[in-house]
Amino acid sequence: MSARLLMGAEVAAEIRAELRDRLEAITARAGRPPGLGIILVGEDPGSELYVRSKLKAASESGLRADLERLPATASLDAVLAAVDRLNRSDVHDGILVQDPLPPGIAGGTRAVFDAISPEKDIDGFHPINVGRLVQGRAVLVACTPSGIVEMLERRGIPIAGRRAVVIGRSDIVGKPMALLLLHRHATVTICHSKTPDLAATCATADILVAAIGRPFFVRSTFVKPGATVVDVGINRVSDPVLAATLLGPDSPRLAALAQRGSIVLGDVHQEVADVAGALTPVPGGVGPLTIAILLKNTLLAAEGRFSVAAGARG
Ligand code: NAD
Repeated sequence: MSARLLMGAEVAAEIRAELRDRLEAITARAGRPPGLGIILVGEDPGSELYVRSKLKAASESGLRADLERLPATASLDAVLAAVDRLNRSDVHDGILVQDPLPPGIAGGTRAVFDAISPEKDIDGFHPINVGRLVQGRAVLVACTPSGIVEMLERRGIPIAGRRAVVIGRSDIVGKPMALLLLHRHATVTICHSKTPDLAATCATADILVAAIGRPFFVRSTFVKPGATVVDVGINRVSDPVLAATLLGPDSPRLAALAQRGSIVLGDVHQEVADVAGALTPVPGGVGPLTIAILLKNTLLAAEGRFSVAAGARG
């Protein structure tokens, strides 16, 4: 391996340490800690895990964090009513509805995100916050792309004047990622499932962000030598045959799979480490940044409510 590893977990720890003084200041000013309200509908094991880590991170950081659980059979109206309660709550500055909603009401996901008050929308999904992001004046921006930009800046990866390629055009990762890079003066290309000559386009990138959701999809032919590669993918693989095909039969990670029943692979093939200049590992790369920014966005929302100047980050 020749690539320098960009350890998002370390950057996340830096961000969280830097929040401490501001958290104390806003707690003194508001007379209470910033509050995060999480709504979890159903019992999806992945969502349970994410919500647990968000609650743990919030309470470790001195935030108030409350979980409202609804059964998988809950109606869309019940979810909207829970959002409304948090919108009107005096002690909750940030609201998060864990995605995905159960299949029966998944069609209402957009309505649920639209119902969250823009000032409390710490995921940055509300159309008002997306519009502000497009205009480069957003305060609350989607957590994963915000964290990636913070990591690139803190680790001295130049963005201005560079070519960036983002694979994936989701509202949660791909689109906000492209906008944040654009606002920092990169020349940005967004690729997706219908992009022709994907590998050749990616190979023009100084910064390549992979947010696809397919294990080991990005091969070394996609990567310009020395490029920075950010692997957003979280792909749980439980099939030992597939894992052995992807990782190679001698990989030590196969033992972990046998022990735990599954492993998490990124969207970027391990061979890319021999070509890239810098690379985020999976796990330990982008994931911890997302949670650190979630805490930061809750703080920003509280600062906004209590009129502490919060700089635009879009
Ligand atoms: P998504 O399914 O909404 O979007 C995937 C995107 O990939 C789509 O825009 C699609 O056009 C593109 N795509 C699919 N197949 C392709 C192909 N063959 N060629 C080119 N593009 C293709 O997913 P998402 O929510 O953006 O998440 C992407 C990945 O990032 C997933 O693995 C998800 O688990 C992970 N994720 C990680 C974090 C984190 O904190 N690390 C946060 C959010 C998402």
